[in-house]
Amino acid sequence: MNFFDNLIDEIKSGVSALNQKNYPFNNCVEWKDLGRNEVIMLRDSAFELDGVGFNLVTSSEIGEDSVTVIGKDMKELKEDTAFARISFIQIDDVDDEQKAYDLIRKIEYAKYHFFPEGYMMRTTSRSNKENVRVSKDALKSGLDFETIGSMMIKKYKENPCVKSVKVFFVTDEKADFKFFDEIAKKNYEITQTLNHIMNNVKFDCDSCNLKPICDEVEGMKELHFKNAGKM
Ligand code: SF4
Repeated sequence: MNFFDNLIDEIKSGVSALNQKNYPFNNCVEWKDLGRNEVIMLRDSAFELDGVGFNLVTSSEIGEDSVTVIGKDMKELKEDTAFARISFIQIDDVDDEQKAYDLIRKIEYAKYHFFPEGYMMRTTSRSNKENVRVSKDALKSGLDFETIGSMMIKKYKENPCVKSVKVFFVTDEKADFKFFDEIAKKNYEITQTLNHIMNNVKFDCDSCNLKPICDEVEGMKELHFKNAGKM
């Protein structure tokens, strides 16, 4: 399952010129997950992170689990900040496309079951928007991206098909946040096309509004051809 590999390459080259701090995954990370949505009022908020957050799933090798911070960490942030969170997620190389597709959806749901104390995340799948309100108390207690990233990796890895995860948090003002918006949009479009392919046996490229994606992403057309029973 390699439909998102070009986007992974684009992200890697898009952040290559920026300073990065890397942390290994901490499996023993100690921070409370509340297990439910927490409402952080504006008066209790230290700052908000506002931007996009999305997963790029692949069965290609991505390397060891890690958390990368590009830009200021939480304790250095003094005001609301543009932000991107990107997770590369390596899954087992399943040969059944339906299983791979179901897996992508399950992995996506993980972010709706992730409630670190003092880190109120609001997301939409449709636009990949991600807004986070961080509480003053959490900041005083030492919350940082390394902690959040390790909690996220742990959450994804509850799924036994997830082999490795790399999480990137970007707050660097030198970063091109429009670029991340563009990748988030492409990610959404590829996911929607997969959705169409897996749930629609109608196969008519000439009248299909998803054609630009299928022309760009290798293997999409073949997958729909196969799924429509034409192979
Ligand atoms: S393969 Fe053709 S019909 Fe299927 S989603 Fe792509 S463009 Fe549409």
